Amino acid sequence: MSAQPNPLSVAPTENQDHRTVLVGLSRDEMITAFADLGEKAFRAKQVWQWIYHHGVTDFAQMSNIGKGLREKLAAHFVIGRPGIVQDLRSSDGTAKWLMRFPDGQEAETVHIPEDDRGTLCISSQVGCTLNCRFCHTGTQMLVRNLEAAEILGQLMHARDALEDWRRPGEERLISNIVMMGMGEPLYNFENVKKALKIMTDNEGISISKRRITLSTAGVVPLMERCGAEIGVNLAVSLHAVRDDIRDEIVPLNRKYPIAQVLQACRDYPGVHNARRITFEYVMLKDINDSDADARELVRLLKDIPAKVNLIPFNAWPGAPYDCSSPERITRFSDIVFQSGISAPVRKPRGEDILAACGQLKSASLRLRKHGTPVQKTPSAEPGSLAL
Ligand code: SAH
Repeated sequence: MSAQPNPLSVAPTENQDHRTVLVGLSRDEMITAFADLGEKAFRAKQVWQWIYHHGVTDFAQMSNIGKGLREKLAAHFVIGRPGIVQDLRSSDGTAKWLMRFPDGQEAETVHIPEDDRGTLCISSQVGCTLNCRFCHTGTQMLVRNLEAAEILGQLMHARDALEDWRRPGEERLISNIVMMGMGEPLYNFENVKKALKIMTDNEGISISKRRITLSTAGVVPLMERCGAEIGVNLAVSLHAVRDDIRDEIVPLNRKYPIAQVLQACRDYPGVHNARRITFEYVMLKDINDSDADARELVRLLKDIPAKVNLIPFNAWPGAPYDCSSPERITRFSDIVFQSGISAPVRKPRGEDILAACGQLKSASLRLRKHGTPVQKTPSAEPGSLAL
């Protein structure tokens, strides 16, 4: 493990010196910002490529732009990176960064290297309003949406830290993105959409939509828009096959019960057998892990292009559940596999740095422990954040 201060720590939305922060502006917004300075659209496009294709953090490195203009740009604009307060590396190669934003709020980002890919797990909110009973993030009191710049900044920093901008002839270390960090991405729809549009822009970062997965606990009214307007893969945190149990462990189920969530999956734009929906299922001992649960899961998913991802429950101090035994998880997985639905067991990663699913938690709780009052703000209720 190592903690490294980042010399490039400029918070994305910080604007103390009145310069505009470029990371997080849409392509059109960047063109407008340049027009306001009397500069043509092609200049904005050049800068876009430097920032998002080459990852430069200094206008001085933009070699196809004359010195005079570079100085003018530097006087009006900042490129922008999040402030990094912690950089933890697990013995299994997983990395976790804690980012701090100008208002002191923090969010975590995790990089999970695997043989055939490297996945960056990005947060969409500080904390989460959903209060899933098995999730550590849900115990955090303060919640706010992350800005598009703050969502995108997580990827920009990870590429810096892993030196992943230029890898001629090599696979990038970050090949895939999952919106599976802290927060409910569909409750921060516009900012998530804006950040993902920039990540997929093919003159910039250019990550394919096929390599991005957004995970939701089942915000039914926004699932269709996610497919139609963002077009990324969908993962759904199902976790139970009966409403009475799901009501308890994923309280959002009281608003959008299982049948509605599954219907939204059948209707998800772009879903087909080659592009399946992933159903996440956390294995909780004696709660949702019986043979009957597995068979019911198969029945529920029979007419949906689906794959299942079984997640061994990651315990945290004070958690009200235990993880199912390895034998139980194997048996559950076998039943689902035998029906023809893929059901691998997700391997916990980065356990020594608390980077595994449901363990992400920023300093807000630590603040609270030290007596600083932190509360969920009224504006952070799901309804008001939703649209
Ligand atoms: N709000 C979104 C995004 C979070 S993704 C969603 O619910 O899908 C994080 C995934 O990890 C979700 O499937 C979540 O239910 C799961 N998870 C949360 N806490 C966990 C824990 N302690 N152990 C295992 N998985 C957990």
